[in-house]
Amino acid sequence: MFELICPLCRTALQTHDKTWLCLNGHAFDVSREGYVNLLPVQHKKSLSPGDTADSVAARRRFLGAGHYQPLRDAVARVLRDLSAQRLLDLGCGEGYYTEAMRGEVPLVCGLDIAKPAIQLAARQQKQVTWLVGSAALLPFADASLDVVSSLFSPLPVAEMHRVLRPNGHVLMVTPAPDHLWQVRQGLFEAVRAHEPDKFVQAFHDDFVLVSRQQVEAPLTLSQAALKDLLAMTPYAWKATAERRALLEANESFQTLAAFDVMLFKRRLEQQSEILD
Ligand SMILES: [Zn+2]
Repeated sequence: MFELICPLCRTALQTHDKTWLCLNGHAFDVSREGYVNLLPVQHKKSLSPGDTADSVAARRRFLGAGHYQPLRDAVARVLRDLSAQRLLDLGCGEGYYTEAMRGEVPLVCGLDIAKPAIQLAARQQKQVTWLVGSAALLPFADASLDVVSSLFSPLPVAEMHRVLRPNGHVLMVTPAPDHLWQVRQGLFEAVRAHEPDKFVQAFHDDFVLVSRQQVEAPLTLSQAALKDLLAMTPYAWKATAERRALLEANESFQTLAAFDVMLFKRRLEQQSEILD
């Protein structure tokens, strides 16, 4: 099992079938779908934080069609070599990648701030522990996880460091510089390349970069698939309605999805320069 802690008082959380309880009596109910909401009301920044039900459904359709399968396969391959026992997938969304992780790691937890995403995930996959929660305060005991993954999601580096055991890993995926370039050309006056290198910097003090690869997925999209893609990316709601409508009028569209997949290893406290 996972070593969980209470998001309110940080004491150990005991899991039971119906309700999870901490030593101070804070109680969290297991939902009908099987997930647990560990997001205290006072930690919410809005009434329903994270993705909406519509964008979650669009992402489920788009990913379900296999457009990002090369990335899913690459993530599974990286994990296969680690022999990890406990993994947290941070910002897991509706769990498309989390399901593939479960094929490689015995104990997998998917955590996301968006309840609609976790509800959908919990209905589909019963072999994963699904939590609604915040990346700012991970509900795990110190040094209790082997891997934390974050795909296009927040990177609370200090919290990741706290929950990982010595020699534990962070698996991070972020858009490569030219990710969905043609889509962004349709939406914006000027397109800027993504800068994956800036994330490497954030890990520098406490982690070592172990491996890095670029994964590409050439896309030929129907009009419906293009609309789903626009509904699930953050790009579209930064664009004007006119430009989005013009782009959505394409009956077929070609572009390239490109991802930067990085694996970091937690440095040992005393031997910060030695890789074993
Ligand atoms: Zn508590």
